[in-house]
Amino acid sequence: MTDVIQLLPDSLANQIAAGEVVQRPASVVKELLENAIDAKSKNITLIVKDAGKALIQIIDDGQGMSETDARMCFERHATSKIRKTEDLFSIRTMGFRGEALASISAVAQVELKTKRDEDTIGTQIIIDGSKFKSQEGVSTPTGTNIVVKNLFYNVPARRNFLKSNPVELRHIMDEFHRIALSNPEVSFYLFQNDLEVYHLKAGKLSQRIVHLFGKNYREQLVPCQEEVEEIKITGYIGKPENAKKSRGEQYFFVNNRFIRSSYLNHAVVNAYHGLIPENSFPFFVLFIELDPKHVDINVHPTKTEVKFDDERTVYSIVKSTVKKSLGTFNLTPSMDYSVDTNFIQNFRKDEKQENSGGFTFERPEPSQREKDNLKNWENLYFDAFENERFEKQVNIEKESKHLTFESAANKFDEGETRQVSGTEKALFQVDLSYIVTSVKSGLMIIDQQNAHERILFEKFKKNLENQQGHVQQFLFPETIELNAADYTLLKDLDNEVRNLGFSYEQFGKNTIALNGSPTLSSQKSGKELLLSLLEDYKSNHADSTYDKRESISRAMSKNAAIKKGKSLSKEEMQSLIDQLFGCENPNYTPNGEKTYYILEAKNIERMFN
Ligand code: ADP
Ligand code: MG
Repeated sequence: MTDVIQLLPDSLANQIAAGEVVQRPASVVKELLENAIDAKSKNITLIVKDAGKALIQIIDDGQGMSETDARMCFERHATSKIRKTEDLFSIRTMGFRGEALASISAVAQVELKTKRDEDTIGTQIIIDGSKFKSQEGVSTPTGTNIVVKNLFYNVPARRNFLKSNPVELRHIMDEFHRIALSNPEVSFYLFQNDLEVYHLKAGKLSQRIVHLFGKNYREQLVPCQEEVEEIKITGYIGKPENAKKSRGEQYFFVNNRFIRSSYLNHAVVNAYHGLIPENSFPFFVLFIELDPKHVDINVHPTKTEVKFDDERTVYSIVKSTVKKSLGTFNLTPSMDYSVDTNFIQNFRKDEKQENSGGFTFERPEPSQREKDNLKNWENLYFDAFENERFEKQVNIEKESKHLTFESAANKFDEGETRQVSGTEKALFQVDLSYIVTSVKSGLMIIDQQNAHERILFEKFKKNLENQQGHVQQFLFPETIELNAADYTLLKDLDNEVRNLGFSYEQFGKNTIALNGSPTLSSQKSGKELLLSLLEDYKSNHADSTYDKRESISRAMSKNAAIKKGKSLSKEEMQSLIDQLFGCENPNYTPNGEKTYYILEAKNIERMFN
C-alpha cells in the first residue's frame, strides 16, 4: 500500500481555519475594526453593502504598512503584535494571533491599499480566496483602506448559511457598538448601502453613549469610578428606573476588550438588588482595567471570553463599585419616589386602557361621557381612600363596554372537555391572573395572560397575511426619536409594522411621527407598544428561524397581551374564553405554554378520598 497522508494545500488549510475566525460578515467587521484601532487610527470609516455580504470596507488613518508588511499580513500567524511567549502575558492590542487577514482573504476577494506616513507612495494588493493576484505601487493617503467583497463566494455552504440581512446587520451593529464604545476618542462613520447610519465625533464616553443609543440616555447615566488592589473600574451605569424588560445594552470591557461574562453580570445585577424589578436589566458600560498578566484572553478564538486569576475579587469590586455609585448619586432614596411615579404612570395607563375598553379588540372613539369619566378618575386617583369607589367606577365603565366585544362563540369548539355549560355560569378570577369556570368534565382554569397572547398572536398573524391591520388614528401624532439601530430595524420591518396597524411617517433624522396604533392593542400606549415591539424583536426574534410575520406576531402578542394582576369583569372573562376557543390552536401560547388547564371532576373527587 502507498502512503495516504498528504499535507493540505495552503489555500484549503486557510479555508478550514477561517471557519473559526470568520463566521459571518460581523466577524470580518470586528477583525478589521480592531486592526484599525491597533494601528492607532483617529478616524475610521466602515462601509457595508447588503449587510456585509456584498462588501465590507474599512478606511483608517492609522500607521499603515510597508510594502513587505502589506504582503506579509495575509500569511497565517503573521503579526506585528507579539514576538515571544512572554508577550502573550502583556497584550495591550486587540489582535495578536495574526490569523484574521489570512482567514478573511481565504474566503473572500480582498483589496488592500496602505501607506505609512514616511513613504511617498503606497502599495496595493489584490488577493482572491488566498490566491495572490497583484501588488503594485499606488497613490493613497496615509493609513489603510481594505475592501472585502463577496464573503464566502468560494464556500457556498457557508454563504447559504448566512442569515437574513437584518440579522446580519444586527450582528455588525453589535460589533460596531462595542468598538465605538471602547474607543470614544476615535471618530467613526458607518454607512450601510450608501446611507449614513452613524457619524460619531471623537469625544467623551458619555457623549459616545448618547450618540449611539439616543438622547434619552443623557439623563440616565450614572458615572462609576473605583480603583482597588490594582483593579480599576470606570464607566457608566443606568438609573434603576430605566432598567429594561429585555436585556438591552450591557457591556463589559476588560483592558478595552469587549467580553461576555455571566459571572460579572451577576455582580452588577446583585448591586441593583431591590432597586429594580426582577427580570429587568439595567444599562451599563463598564471598563475593567488590570495588569494583563492577571487575565487570560487566549481562551477563545473569537476572544469574547476571558479568565481572571482571581475572579472573586473582580466580582466583589464590580459589585461594590456599582453599589457605591447607586448610593453616591442618591438613587436609593430616590427609588421610593420613582416607585411612586411608576405607580402613577401605571395608573394612568390603566385609565387610558379602561377608558378604551380594557382588552377589547375593536376600540371605539371615546364618547363625551367617557371623557368625563376620565376626569372623574383623575380626581379619584388623588384621593387614596376612594379606591373602592374607583373600582366600582371601573366596573361600570367596563359593563358599558362589553357590547363591543367581538364574540367567537359561534366558532366554539364543541369538544367535550372544553364545552362551557350554559351562559349563566360561575366565572371568577383567582389571584387576578386565572379565570376559573366549570366545564362538563370539571373545572377549567385559564391563564389570562397566556390566553390573550394566543388570541392576539392569531389576530396579528391574520392581519399580516391579509395585509390589513386596523389603525386607530391619534388626535395628535406622537414623535418618537429612535436610536440609529432601532431606526434601521424599523425601516426593515416597515411593511409588517404598518400591516399590524401602526401608522407613521418620517419626521427628521431617526425620528418618526406616530399617527396611529393597532386597534387590537390594549395596555400600552402606541409609542410604548412600538418601542417594546422593536426591543423584543431584536432581542428575541432577530435571530430566530421563523419568518418575519411569525416573529413580529409573536413579539407583538407578547407585548400587547393583558398581564397577570389585571382585574377583569365577567364580560371580559367571557369574551376572552370565547375568543380563545375561536382560535385555531387554543391550547398553547405561541411559545408553547399552556393557556388553560382542566382539573377533572374525578381528580377533584380523589382529593377528598
Ligand atoms: P493580528 O491583528 O492578530 O496581528 P491580523 O491578521 O489581523 O493579525 O493582521 C496582521 C498584521 O497586519 C497586524 O499584526 C498588523 O501588523 C498588520 N495590519 C493589519 N491591519 C492593519 C491596519 N489597518 N493598519 C496597519 N497595519 C495593519
Ligand atoms: Mg487583527
